[in-house]
Amino acid sequence: MPIFRVRPTIPILTADDVNRSASDALQEARRRLKEIETANTASVLEMWDDTSIVLEDAFGPISLLNSVHPDAAVRDAADRALIDESVFMTEVFQNERLFERARSVVPVNKAQKQLQKDLLESFEDSGVALPQEKRERFREISERITELAQEFAKNIRENKTVLHFTPGECLGLPKSYLDRVPRDGEGNIVVGFDYPDFVPFMMNSASESARKRYYIANTNRGTPRNIDILDEIVRLRKEIADLYGVPSFAHYVTKRRMVENPETVSRFLDEVKSAVIDAERRDLDQLAQIAGKPKIERWEMMYYRERLREQRYTVDQEALREYFPTVSTLHWMLDITERLYGIRFEEATVPVWHEDVIYYDVKDADNGDLVGGVYLDLYPRADKYKHAAAWPVRGVSRRAGRKPISALVTNFNRDGLTHNELETLLHEFGHVMHGVLSKTEYNQHSGTSVERDFVEAPSQMYEEWGNRMESLSLLREHCAGCPEIDESLVSRIRAARKFGSGIDYGRQHLYAAFDMALSSAAPGECLEVWKKMERATPMGHIEGTSFPGTFEHIASGYAAGYYGYMWAKVIALDLIAAFGPDLMNTSTGRRFRDLILSRGSELPARDLVEEFLGRPVSSEAFFQEIRGE
Ligand SMILES: [Zn+2]
Repeated sequence: MPIFRVRPTIPILTADDVNRSASDALQEARRRLKEIETANTASVLEMWDDTSIVLEDAFGPISLLNSVHPDAAVRDAADRALIDESVFMTEVFQNERLFERARSVVPVNKAQKQLQKDLLESFEDSGVALPQEKRERFREISERITELAQEFAKNIRENKTVLHFTPGECLGLPKSYLDRVPRDGEGNIVVGFDYPDFVPFMMNSASESARKRYYIANTNRGTPRNIDILDEIVRLRKEIADLYGVPSFAHYVTKRRMVENPETVSRFLDEVKSAVIDAERRDLDQLAQIAGKPKIERWEMMYYRERLREQRYTVDQEALREYFPTVSTLHWMLDITERLYGIRFEEATVPVWHEDVIYYDVKDADNGDLVGGVYLDLYPRADKYKHAAAWPVRGVSRRAGRKPISALVTNFNRDGLTHNELETLLHEFGHVMHGVLSKTEYNQHSGTSVERDFVEAPSQMYEEWGNRMESLSLLREHCAGCPEIDESLVSRIRAARKFGSGIDYGRQHLYAAFDMALSSAAPGECLEVWKKMERATPMGHIEGTSFPGTFEHIASGYAAGYYGYMWAKVIALDLIAAFGPDLMNTSTGRRFRDLILSRGSELPARDLVEEFLGRPVSSEAFFQEIRGE
């Protein structure tokens, strides 16, 4: 039986295994690259793909375990290994002999042409054409940024701060919450920053002072150290721009994105701002009315939004958990995904890093062939990654017969999901499917390797399946005892969700503009820049808060890229429109699988989207949504 018929799984490594696996992979990759230096032109791309697979076999699992393994020794070994990998990759893409080999390739099809272009750009972006001294400095900077970004993430992930709230401060909290959270000797609840602790408290505690205390603490999860880290990262990024003789880090980054330059981002953000400004004020005025106050403070926002939802739409997020029991909702999501894309999920027992983790084989419904594998790590625990994300642990390669694996990591309540959490689940699963259903010839073109300002489109698109009757009505088949989801509830959920889009997009605009400011020609100190920008918003800046210390996105790969969420949302809304009035339209589902998901980055995103839509992208639906229309 050829090796690729066997189910691929994630090896559960010890700290020693991490070290060994990393150093073996680097050694083997080094040996193979040496061969590429003298290989004949026709075999360069194939040999490159094989080398990239050797590296991914080691560093795919290491990168995931770095964020989820319960053992600190494993996470720390993974930190070190990932730095070694990043240093190695810079070396590879500064190697002139390899550069010359990549340049010599004569592509015979579009995928090869794209792969060659991607490789040449990686060489260029790692400084292969820079003078020796600048090249060395680039190497030092890359290593240092990797190290700093890891420390930033670790400070958030492993933050041990807890807050104590008295029974008086807990008035308004759901009984299920109070039954679940631990207490100290005096009967106060003890909570940390996991979503199931933080969000219901902010939505429901009647005590304004308690919410304020919790809100401020939450923005200080990374301080003071992460502020210094971010400042150093920002300075180093500016230095990269200087090495290349471009005005800003944003110039260096955006030339590889759909937008192509920072000016396009600025124009887009200006358009968003002018569309959102009235909507944000209008939303805030309505909340102030509900609160009976002239102005809403930041720590009151979630609370009064929830009251408004209850009063106006009779939608209560906590009560929705009964409609969306976590496990049944997961089964429902797998079911609708099976129907849409013509696949099957089969649970199987494989080694896992924690007993909560579940695994599914993904098979093609037509012929039963194994397509790939999916791991789900759904619930919070100490030292685990605190947000929701998908890891493309292993990418496809058709030419090598390689099957993909993606892992979904979230921090859900075990009993049930709110509607927001339902959307989060669908969003991340959108990324998982992008990884697992890709069928590209080359490993480097796998699923989510698309342009960073496109990658959020399939995931944001999938959120909509949590907002329509035709998909939600199928939940009944997985939870006969759940309260029935009817037209009225769905339309109230949709209306409640619509309220606050001005506030939400106002915030997204601020994050994106802040990111672009830090990536600009004159970035400044991050906390000062943030205070100034937040002060200029309708709700202003709260003294003692330090949001930038928690902004992991821009400490890592989303730098000069946060705008991508909104840029991709434009595309996502257009993709949804292509499904027409029935989201469970399986023929469009199959087309989406074939024309977008399966093709990863083997063509530029714009080409894939235009082929699927049969026309260029329109931003009309997006601007309607942010104006709350
Ligand atoms: Zn996402």
